[in-house]
Amino acid sequence: MLNIGCHLSSSKGFYHMGCEALSIDANTFQFFTRNPRGGSAKEIDPDDAQKLNDLIKEKNFAKILAHAPYTLNACAEKEYIREFAYNTMLDDLKRMDFVPGNLYNFHPGSHVGQGIEKGIEMISQLLNSIMWKEQTTTVLLETMSGKGSEVGSKFEELREIIDRVELDDKMGVCLDTCHVYDGGYDIVADLDGVLTQFDKIIGLDRLKAIHINDSKNPFASHKDRHEKIGEGSIGAQAFERIINHPALRHLPFYLETPNELDGYAREIAFLKSLYK
Ligand code: FE
Ligand code: FE
Ligand code: ZN
Repeated sequence: MLNIGCHLSSSKGFYHMGCEALSIDANTFQFFTRNPRGGSAKEIDPDDAQKLNDLIKEKNFAKILAHAPYTLNACAEKEYIREFAYNTMLDDLKRMDFVPGNLYNFHPGSHVGQGIEKGIEMISQLLNSIMWKEQTTTVLLETMSGKGSEVGSKFEELREIIDRVELDDKMGVCLDTCHVYDGGYDIVADLDGVLTQFDKIIGLDRLKAIHINDSKNPFASHKDRHEKIGEGSIGAQAFERIINHPALRHLPFYLETPNELDGYAREIAFLKSLYK
């Protein structure tokens, strides 16, 4: 069975997202932990969280994926920006314990001219200051396209961050197909080669989730603009190979394509029809 879902709005709470996922034939979903631009989060309703936990069990969901606000920068030059990342991520991780055993994804950050090494150091420091031994959430670094001074567009950089995290058994990677393709990993012409590289550098056992997006831009453009499945430079055939690849087919896939719910429903049905 293909484990697939899409990005959903969290404004109506946990249980609502679970029902919405089921209504489009998904068995998982992604959501922002708070306004994607940052800011304070709504108080969690424990009953609402419990209703989702029960639904997840009853309907056999794949792991759900929380996404940190994308404006966070764990390796900003200004201390107050790093502090905001610290406060937000710590709070998010605590809140994730209401839906235990799931995934939390974030963009590693932009080093804003301080250099990749400094960025990597700051990101791992921040992770070491917010993670705790008993946490049940796995923290995922997202593969980035390398626009601006983004850290994490090369597998080596993600590996270096993970290497410096003390509780590294709670660390994984979320591979975004649009980002890696824009970032110069040719998953269209050489998927096997890219996955071999990933395995050698990071280890495929670290790969916990896939953001499945087509790209509006050509290979290695370092841009990051998502496109609907089959309408971009990656194309439907490549996605057929991706969802069926022996190293990937068991993973949860999350759509972040420019769609409303009905568009997501169509993409989910389409991808399911390609799954062997
Ligand atoms: Fe993301
Ligand atoms: Fe993504
Ligand atoms: Zn993106």
